[in-house]
Amino acid sequence: MTDTLFQLPEIPTVPVRNEVAGYPVGRIFCVGRNYAAHAAEMGIEVDRQSPFYFTKSPANMVLSGAQVPYPPGTNNFHYEMELALAIGAPLFRATPKQARAAIFGYCCALDMTRRDLQIRERQKQRPWDLGKDVENGTVLAPLTRAADWGAADAQRIYLTVNGELRQDATLTELVWSVEEILCHLSGFYHLRPGDLILTGTPAGVGPVLGGDVIEGGIDGLDPISLTLTTSD
Ligand code: MN
Repeated sequence: MTDTLFQLPEIPTVPVRNEVAGYPVGRIFCVGRNYAAHAAEMGIEVDRQSPFYFTKSPANMVLSGAQVPYPPGTNNFHYEMELALAIGAPLFRATPKQARAAIFGYCCALDMTRRDLQIRERQKQRPWDLGKDVENGTVLAPLTRAADWGAADAQRIYLTVNGELRQDATLTELVWSVEEILCHLSGFYHLRPGDLILTGTPAGVGPVLGGDVIEGGIDGLDPISLTLTTSD
């Protein structure tokens, strides 16, 4: 071990269903506008030319069940329910077949977003980091191995706030499929175990407040929840 001046927090890990060992998270990539109805509600027509991405720091992730404070700097903090996939083997310039074989597993994820800042940054043609890379702003539920779940197909993806249904779609609505995303993204990165990819959110995004309980699910995967407390 290299001698270091100070200690950083441990590498975050995600539990895996029926496993003792956790999945360590190295990088988090997120796909933007991957459901046409969500792109429309954001005032933008979906673009079939190529997917686009932003990244979120692993240090900012929390596990499902967390209670986190309402974040600073926003008056419009939004939930986004997403399917996340975890990479289990090196992947570079992948074919669809290689992409499928490299998927370790899947889980429910929340891509929490300071929507007011994201839109302001977008309008000024600036990067989205303040809007997207929010402390405690990536929530991950336990992973299920690909062999135990199958593949993204017609599974329902949904989210409730305080028990009220807000997002309700199926994974058939993904603009870019899981394989297409991996083939494209692996042209720019040497994907490797530890890489997580959030595949975008369906329509129905909206604001939450301190005290709200967010719960979501995807058929066949462990559900996800997040409780917001009032700001610290
Ligand atoms: Mn998202």
